[in-house]
Amino acid sequence: MAITITLPDGTPLELDDGADGAVAAAAIGSRLAKAAVAVTVDGRQQDLSAPLADGAEVSIITIDSDAGRHVLRHSAAHVMAQAVLDLFPGATFAIGPPIEDGFYYDFDIGRPFTPEDLEAVEARMAEIVAEDQPFEREAMSKSRALEVFADHPFKREIIESVDEAEGAGGDQVTVYHNREFVDLCRGPHLPSTGRLPAFKLMRTAGAYWRGDETRPQLQRIYGTAWESRAAQEAYLHRLEEARKRDHRKLGAELDLFSFPTELGSGLAVWHPKGALVRTIMEDYSRRTHLAHGYDIVASPHIAKAHLWETSGHLSFYAEGMYPGMEVDEGDEYRLKPMNCPFHILIFRSRSRSYRELPLRMFELGAVYRYERSGVVHGLLRARGFTQDDSHIFCTEDQIGGELQGLLDFSLMVLRDFGFEEFEADLSTIPDKYVGDPQEWERATEALRDALEAAGLEYHVAEGEGAFYGPKIDLHVRDAIGRRWQVTTLQVDFAQPDNFDLEYATPDNTRARPVMIHRALFGSVERFFGVLLEHYAGALPGWLSPVQVTIVPVADRHVGYAGQVAAGLRADHLRVEVDDADDTVGEKIRRALTDRHPAVLVVGDDDVAAGTVGVRLRGAEERRGVAVSEAAEMIAELCRAPR
Ligand SMILES: [Zn+2]
Ligand SMILES: [Zn+2]
Repeated sequence: MAITITLPDGTPLELDDGADGAVAAAAIGSRLAKAAVAVTVDGRQQDLSAPLADGAEVSIITIDSDAGRHVLRHSAAHVMAQAVLDLFPGATFAIGPPIEDGFYYDFDIGRPFTPEDLEAVEARMAEIVAEDQPFEREAMSKSRALEVFADHPFKREIIESVDEAEGAGGDQVTVYHNREFVDLCRGPHLPSTGRLPAFKLMRTAGAYWRGDETRPQLQRIYGTAWESRAAQEAYLHRLEEARKRDHRKLGAELDLFSFPTELGSGLAVWHPKGALVRTIMEDYSRRTHLAHGYDIVASPHIAKAHLWETSGHLSFYAEGMYPGMEVDEGDEYRLKPMNCPFHILIFRSRSRSYRELPLRMFELGAVYRYERSGVVHGLLRARGFTQDDSHIFCTEDQIGGELQGLLDFSLMVLRDFGFEEFEADLSTIPDKYVGDPQEWERATEALRDALEAAGLEYHVAEGEGAFYGPKIDLHVRDAIGRRWQVTTLQVDFAQPDNFDLEYATPDNTRARPVMIHRALFGSVERFFGVLLEHYAGALPGWLSPVQVTIVPVADRHVGYAGQVAAGLRADHLRVEVDDADDTVGEKIRRALTDRHPAVLVVGDDDVAAGTVGVRLRGAEERRGVAVSEAAEMIAELCRAPR
């Protein structure tokens, strides 16, 4: 007896009856057999050792693919749980999924893990890997599984909640054994623990069972696992790079901003240099918006709760809002989480004609969102921040042109700040939506056309649009290859309805405008954080809070340094004279540590000849440069992109 399976390229492969994924991989090639960790059969992943059915479409999952790394990290989580249960009598375990770049598992050992505990767990894991224990699958009834996990209440809770309809097994669940260790799991896994090439435990954290603060607190161990030691080393190196670039660390080192605990989680204060940089960003933003046909508007930080009822925020977004404030005998006010309703009220403040459309309103609007303290992360996810927010009111016919213009404008701005690689997600109509499906279709096409005209790579997120309209999310890649979401363009069919917006058409009938929401930086704070990490603190000249440091060699050169500084300031450069009582070398090092783009050193020869020594970022030092020439070089280095 033989079976025939189909490979991904459509070729048939004949195998003996009962052949499994490992046999199929070996029949294709010995290298594939070595790299194979699991197999996809008719779209479902399964263990390499599960028999293949005649006629199945089969593709081999190799260890160095995304799916393969998922399998190996998932298997590493099992090995970690096995080690913890071995080492800590009475320990129990909850869930342990693979995540991006690694895995975690949640345990209860009656106390937090110590660093010594992690070392012991890692050492025990290494033994389990060395023993090369096979992962063995077993299907069993729920009642049997409840007995197997009699001592493990979290597992029992999972078993009890397994939906009967979920698998073909009905009442069945699957468990995996390696030796005496058993875990509830659907698989697939590596064939054996010995196939785990590289892993490392990273850190621990408290985590509530089911993410619910009213349920028991568990102890989570995070680990990473890779297809080779080299891949793991490269990852740890990237992590180290990211740590060096952490904007919270740079913000403190460069004296830009801080998060005083007295203010509360996610709320920053901006120190002089940081506030100067954000002012430059905001000025750039206002200037370019004005130059591209936007009207600048402004709005307050609070509004009556009634406004947020009309806009639907209190129905759909209440958990993201701060609680109400009662004032004026029962009037409730809310801090604004978004600027949209204010701009809508400006639109609605008088009757509008088609001649005014598209109407583009722009505001640097501070908003406040209640983020859970666990997700607050420096400037990247704060509770108070300033959106560079825009709302465009247009006719349906204008959507295409507007989206095109918006996307071009957004890319121009992102390029001005030094980003060169972009990716986009296009989110389409979800199951529940408002508006006319044909209108949705046209708006989605318009978004797609805009992406294609801009030559952007994009990924379609089917059904991921908000209920009120399709959208584009733009991501940038930073200097170390990380992806950051920045800009969002969102078409909205709902708000014009909620607020009953209208304009007069050419034949003097009433029509409803369409709205487009657009935040370009996302928020000034978040974008600032991304820039700091992208540039590792060495902001481009035009954004640097100090552009030039002048270092007098000795006290007698301070007067001359002051003259040079005055000349540069007259050219609108931001200049500092370092007249501290330190050596020249120390002063230069300090200017470099502070990431100042230009350092000028002045000594006796310079005073006599009217020159300076010039050190520009990324260039060789030059001595005896005429002050006017140095000024031109620095102006060039610090020129704003527009
Ligand atoms: Zn598993
Ligand atoms: Zn909006």
